Formats: sequence, C-alpha cells, structure tokens
Amino acid sequence: MGYGDGTLSVWAGENEPTWERATQVPIVQSVSFGYEDVDEWISVALGETPGHIYSRNTNPTVAVFEERIASLERAEAATAFATGMAAISGTLHALLGPGDRVVSVKDTYGGTTKLFLEFLPRNGVDVDLIDTDDHDAIEAAVAKGCDVLYLESPTNPTLKVLDLERLATAGHAAGAVVVVDNTFATPINQRPLELGADLVVHSATKFLGGHADALGGIVCGIQELVDRIYHYREINGATIDPFAAYLLLRSVKTLHLRVERQNANALTIARHLEEHPAIEGVFYPGLESHPHHDIAARQMKGFGGVLSFSIRGGFDAVRAVLPRLELAHLAANLGAVETIVGPPATTSHVEMTADERAAMGIPESLVRYSAGVEDVEDLIADLDQALDVVDQ
Ligand SMILES: *Cc1c(COP(=O)(O)O)cnc(C)c1O
Repeated sequence: MGYGDGTLSVWAGENEPTWERATQVPIVQSVSFGYEDVDEWISVALGETPGHIYSRNTNPTVAVFEERIASLERAEAATAFATGMAAISGTLHALLGPGDRVVSVKDTYGGTTKLFLEFLPRNGVDVDLIDTDDHDAIEAAVAKGCDVLYLESPTNPTLKVLDLERLATAGHAAGAVVVVDNTFATPINQRPLELGADLVVHSATKFLGGHADALGGIVCGIQELVDRIYHYREINGATIDPFAAYLLLRSVKTLHLRVERQNANALTIARHLEEHPAIEGVFYPGLESHPHHDIAARQMKGFGGVLSFSIRGGFDAVRAVLPRLELAHLAANLGAVETIVGPPATTSHVEMTADERAAMGIPESLVRYSAGVEDVEDLIADLDQALDVVDQ
C-alpha cells in the first residue's frame, strides 16, 4: 500500500469483512476455531487454506494488529508477543544457538542487557557488548564474525543514537541478521527496515499502545525470518491476548497524532531545560548539542517523546523535585499520553548499583522524562515550579 502513516495507522489490516458487519475489529476471545469438514480443517492446519485453529498460534484480532504494525514499518510480515521482552527474547532465541555470536551495545534496554549477560551465554551464545558511542569498535566487533547484530536507537535513558544505515551495512558484510529495537522512535519517526535492518522489534506497551493499559510486543521484517520467530513463539507460547491486541489496535489509530505532539512537546521542553539554571545537562537527539544530532536528523523524521536531564544537586535533588511535579506520573513506564518521569535508578537500570550506572555514564542526578500530549506551556510551568527547590 502506498498510503501515508496516518492512513495506515487508522486502516491497515482492516480489509476483511467483520462479524455481523461491525465497523470495528471484534475481540475474538475464542481459544479454538471449529470446522464441520475434516478435510478443510486439515488444510487450514497445514497452512494450505487461510484460517485459524488455536489462538496460541494465530487469532483473527491479533492478525489485524500484526498486519497494521507490519504496514507501518513497511515490513513483509510481523508476529506479535505478550510483551516487548517476549518479542526480544523470542527473536534472539529463535535466531541464536550454541556457537553463534551476537554483537550489541552496552546501552540496550535493561531487560535486553540481562538476556545478553545472563541467559544467552547459558545457551552457548558468544555475546560481545560494545560502547554505544564507538561506531568503529562496533564495526570491528562485527567483522570478527557475527550471526546477529542487535541495535537500539535512541537508547534508554541517555538517548544515544546509532547510525543504523552504516551499522546495517557492516552487519550484512559479515552475514549477520540485523535487528533494531525501534520502541523509542516508533515507525512514525524512524523506519529501520528502510535503513537496511532485517527485523524491527517493539515494546508495544510503550508508544504503540500509548495509554499505559496494555502489554504487548511485536517483531516485523523479512518473511522468512519472521516465520522462524513465529514458529518459536507458537511452541514457546508467549502469545499476546486478543483483548490486549484489541486495545493496541484501538490505540494505534491515533499513533501518528500522539507521536507528532510528543515530538513537539519533548523538543520544546528539552530546549527550555537546556537554558535552565537548575539543570546540568539535557540528553535529546533533537538538540544541536547532542553528539549525534546529525545522524539523528538524517535517519529520523522526529526525535521522539523521551528526553532525559540531570539536575544540579545529585540524587537528593531528584528526590526533592520529582514529587513536586503535578502533571506527571512517577512510574516505570514511558510513551503514554500522560507525562511520565522516573530516575534510571528506579526504572530502566534498577538492577544495577550506583557504581555500575556511573560506569555506563548514567549519573544519579538523571531523570527520564516521557512527554505526554498535554499543553506544553503547562508542562514547562510545572517543571519550573518543581525545580524551584534546587539551589541554582
Ligand atoms: C519497555 C521496553 C522494552 C520491554 O518491553 P515490555 O513490554 O516491558 O516487555 C524493550 N525495549 C525498550 C526500548 C523498552 O523501552
């Protein structure tokens, strides 16, 4: 389909006639699907005729969600999971076995880092995690041999940016499958498959869902790879529930509107905080001061709804400022229509010690700020009154 992102957000996947001519995709809350003709049943079970057998494998509501996100990522195929972590671990376990080698960066999402450090090595997978800022070192690690190159951009919580086109080229030269976690950007801002990646993964829990009320994950990309990951999921069973798929489908109808507003709010807030005397530093790819702003400007249409900043006065200042915010949930989530804030010490990097966080360049004075869709003047006034407690 040659439609734009707004049209795809609203319509993609909704081409089948629905139950009793309902205009909305029904929640098909049925475990299995009945057949009067045994030969037809066998034919569907063998995949020769379209249809559904058992909802751990496929389900009509889930199928519409998969088709919608595949369309937005301009992917051949997609398969959905119960959570973002289920999608990421399903992808890595489907593609990697004993003796294989995966190259990634040190700043992946905390749960992903745990897979790399704790679970994949147990399966005999060689894991090499490289400094996120060092593209030359990533290329050198890939050139040593690489089955999967796993990337994330922008990263959590310091909003580092990877040059996806450059690294996908390096990955393919080594024969690797290139996977990108596109959760922070969303397909509205960045389309990794068009930059050369083979697979894109999402925590649908975040911006795709956008209302902090449903968990989900999805993998999109080349059909043959998605088929392998689907097969892993149908057997291992981390299937998304049809009701969650319905909530996510409903949310994606406004994805383009929400993300455009979140991009604008985050950029305005980042610029304001950069000039604020209580703030030491602001991390946001849309700022000219960001070390990889040029790469971000080339590969992203908008810079996303998440920024982070460090407050003068360390963790004590964070402890004093955050509860004063009236227009933000203090919670371990992001991407919702409401603004959400949290320090990495309690959210993305809760499993690490202060020293480990410092070694990763995450100061204790850092706050992750996920801009919602509120009026930006109100969000700025709220931040300013909260920051009044800081010695400036
Ligand atoms: C939240 C998140 C995940 C994990 O998603 P869940 O739905 O919580 O399992 C993975 N990657 C990124 C970048 C995230 O922000």
